[in-house]
Amino acid sequence: MKNVQRNVLLNPGPATTTDSVKWAQVVPDICPREKEFGDLMEFCATEITRFVGDPEHYATVLFGGSGTATVEAILSSVIPEEGKILIIDNGAYGKRMCQITAVYKINTVVFKSSSIQALDMAALEEVLNNGEGLTHLAMIHHETTTGLLNDITAVGKLCAQYKLSFIVDSMSGFAAIPVDMKAMNIDYLAASSNKNIQGMAGIGFAICAKTALENIKSIAPRNLYLNLYAQYVYFEKTHQTRFTPPVQTFYALKQAIVETKAETIEKRFERYSRSWETLLEGVGALGLEYLVDKEHHSRIITSIIEPNTAKYDFDEMHDFFFEKGFTIYPGKINNYNTFRISNIGQIDHTDITAFLEVLKTYLVEIDYL
Ligand SMILES: *Cc1c(COP(=O)(O)O)cnc(C)c1O
Repeated sequence: MKNVQRNVLLNPGPATTTDSVKWAQVVPDICPREKEFGDLMEFCATEITRFVGDPEHYATVLFGGSGTATVEAILSSVIPEEGKILIIDNGAYGKRMCQITAVYKINTVVFKSSSIQALDMAALEEVLNNGEGLTHLAMIHHETTTGLLNDITAVGKLCAQYKLSFIVDSMSGFAAIPVDMKAMNIDYLAASSNKNIQGMAGIGFAICAKTALENIKSIAPRNLYLNLYAQYVYFEKTHQTRFTPPVQTFYALKQAIVETKAETIEKRFERYSRSWETLLEGVGALGLEYLVDKEHHSRIITSIIEPNTAKYDFDEMHDFFFEKGFTIYPGKINNYNTFRISNIGQIDHTDITAFLEVLKTYLVEIDYL
C-alpha cells in the first residue's frame, strides 16, 4: 500500500483518515444496483446501527449528502402536520435545526441556552410543563460550536416522562462518545461518515427506532429526496438507495467501520481524550485560555481564546500551520474571539505535542511569548 501524504486535520471533520481507508476507495467500477454493492451498504447500515443499538429494533437509513442533509431528512419527515417540536438551541448546530423547521413551516418552540454552560434542566422542564401540544424534542449531542457536551441522558428521561419523540444530532459525538439509543430513549439519531467514524465525506446516517419509523408512515411527504420513510422502505426491500449513492465513499466507509470495531469506541474515546488532555495542558502552559469547563467538555473540540496582541491574525496563523501540515479552524461563537482545535481522526497525542510546538513558535513570532 502506497503512503499518501499525511495532513493533520485539526478541524472538526472531515478528519485525518488512515491510508487503508483512503485506498479502500480504489476498486473496480461497479453499478450500485449490483447485489455486491447492496451487500456492502447493508453491512454498513447494520454495523452503524450496532454501535448504538440492537439491529432488531433499530435501523440505519443512509443518505448521500453531508450531515445536514440527514438532519433535514429527519426533521422534515417525522413531525406530523398537527405536531409541534421543541428544539434546544445552544449553538450554531441547534440554530441550524431551527432554520430547517422554519423552512418547512413546522410548528417549533425554541429553548435557547448558553453555548458554554450546561443546560438548565429545571428551566427546560418548566417549558415542557407549559408546552401544550408538544410532540417532539430535538437537540445536539455535542455542540461542535464550542465543544460543549449536552446531557442527552437527562433530556431523554424528560422525553420519556412527557411522551415526546426524541431526536438527537450526534454528528460530532457518534463513534467516539458512547450512545445507547434504547437507554437514552432516542428515537432518531443523526450522524455522518466523515467525523469520528474516520471515513470520507458524503454519507449521512439516520439511525431510527423501527417503531418510530412505522409511526411516520402516514405523514404526507414534505420532500422527495430527503424523505426518511421512503428511503427506509426502499432500502429494506431492495438493499438499494432510491438515488445514486456515493459509491466509492461507501467502500471507504466499510473500511472505516472495520477499523472502528477493531479499535472499539471506548478505546477511540480514550485516544481522543489523551490528545485533548495534552492539548489543554499545552495551551495552559502557553498562557492561553479555553471556553468550556472540563466537566461539560466533549474532549473532542476546544474553543481557545485568541491571543490578545496586535500582531495576531487568524488567517496568518492558519497559513503558518498549513505550511507545516496542520489544518486549524476558526471560531464560531459570538461574543468571544476564539479559534478551534479538534482532536478527532487518525491522530494522537504526539500530533498534538507537535502542534503545540508550532503554536509556541507562532506565539513567539507575534511577540506574545
Ligand atoms: C458537522 C456537524 C453537522 C453537519 O455538518 P455538514 O457540514 O452538513 O456535514 C451537523 N451537526 C453537528 C453538531 C456537526 O458537528
